[in-house]
Amino acid sequence: MSNTIWVLIELENGTPARSSLEVLGKAAKLGRAEAIVLGAAAAEVAPSLGEYGAEKVYVHADAAYDNYLTLPAVETLSNLLKEQQPALLLMATTYNLRDIAARLNVRNNLGLITDATDLAFNGNELSVTVPWGGENVVTATHPQQGTGIVLTRPKAFSVENYAGRTAEIETLNATISAEAQAIKIVDTVEVASEGPALEDANVVVSGGRGLGKAENFRLVEELATALEGAPGATRAIVDAGWLPYSYQVGQTGKTVKPTLYIACGISGAIQHIAGMKGSKYIVAINKDEHAPIFSLADFGVVGDALSILPQLTEEVKRR
Ligand code: FAD
Repeated sequence: MSNTIWVLIELENGTPARSSLEVLGKAAKLGRAEAIVLGAAAAEVAPSLGEYGAEKVYVHADAAYDNYLTLPAVETLSNLLKEQQPALLLMATTYNLRDIAARLNVRNNLGLITDATDLAFNGNELSVTVPWGGENVVTATHPQQGTGIVLTRPKAFSVENYAGRTAEIETLNATISAEAQAIKIVDTVEVASEGPALEDANVVVSGGRGLGKAENFRLVEELATALEGAPGATRAIVDAGWLPYSYQVGQTGKTVKPTLYIACGISGAIQHIAGMKGSKYIVAINKDEHAPIFSLADFGVVGDALSILPQLTEEVKRR
């Protein structure tokens, strides 16, 4: 079996996404890491990828990928996979890359494992760790025909530094069909937000159903602002329409790993914990002393979040 591992690099405003660089660092530990970068900025970005672990970078600098990535990327990657058979194709779990992985899998009849938090080769056998129901389930796959696709969870790996590594660059001689360019993005709505992004914040203050009603979420936002952090939420209140999905922390939301995570009116369901258990310090405010979140918390406050949060915010502002 080939020890070549491809990593599809997602570009965000012309620079590699941190989540893709995390995957590249992991790939370089597993075998020969080769990156694929698609988009107008691809040629510019490619040389820097050696320092993150790539030994080779396939480049296709075409603005068609920047309009709507999925269909052109699936076409280019399918053609590339017909020529070569890397052992694995890794991608971070993001909206765009999930979409690409699913279509690529079906079109080329490959194998796909999602939400992986670790990968290892034991001889020719690949083990993939996937968290499920609060447990880490190890899926063992046998030596395979063709390439396996694995989507990995953001923050599962750190960005590695391969200073001095120079990647070989191969420019792809690809043409994107009209069919693959049929979808055009006609408008993009930027949601204005202040403070750090939820997934990068050093402090996250999250609220749950215990806040009682949507208007009370401002108490969470005020504490997050005072701590220069970001507000997050449970699925219960996102599903209730209090907040957009982008706030959701958990198994089917974002994975966060801040230094401090404050859970307010959150019971601590395993699906929520899956997205925040890597936090360094966890503080829980819950009026039920038996709430499961307390078994995970470093510091717990049994009480009414609606009266504790304003006091906490005042105290933080005072200092
Ligand atoms: P509840 O479980 O209702 O907890 C509310 C808590 O608030 C209680 O502990 C209560 O004691 C406390 N409380 C009440 N009043 C107060 C007060 N005044 N002050 C302080 N505390 C108070 N959930 C996620 O969060 N993220 C996910 O990604 C996610 N993915 C899921 C995927 C699947 C397939 C499924 C089935 C579920 C998923 N869930 C997810 C939902 C999850 O199972 C829980 O339902 C959800 O996390 C509960 O949210 P909550 O803690 O806000 O609400």
